[in-house]
Amino acid sequence: MKFLKEYWGLVALALLLTTWWTAETGAAPLFFLSGVVVVWSLFWAPAWCGAVNRNGKFCINNSRGLLLGCHLRQHRWQKFKMLFYSKRWAQFTRGMWASPTAILATVSGTVGTVSAITTGIKDFAL
Ligand SMILES: [Zn+2]
Repeated sequence: MKFLKEYWGLVALALLLTTWWTAETGAAPLFFLSGVVVVWSLFWAPAWCGAVNRNGKFCINNSRGLLLGCHLRQHRWQKFKMLFYSKRWAQFTRGMWASPTAILATVSGTVGTVSAITTGIKDFAL
């Protein structure tokens, strides 16, 4: 059950893809599932912190989600600040590919975002 506790976002992702495939449902469940997947990847998925330490090295402490840093307050702050400086984005995205779980979270988050946008467009178009 530990797997589910950490990776419920992937279950939501699987459900989301199945729902897309069968496509009999309306937009509401798609939006809901997309939202769940994105929230999971940003705030829950097991990942590496990815903040830059004073020695210029990558912080590989465990963290939750792509948006949050590890237990060090300074790192959380650093990651938060990165979002507002486009120059720091390269650094931020580097953290998104730093570990297999981070890649998983990044891909899921992207799928969730794209799915939400596509659902929105489809809903407006029809
Ligand atoms: Zn850290």
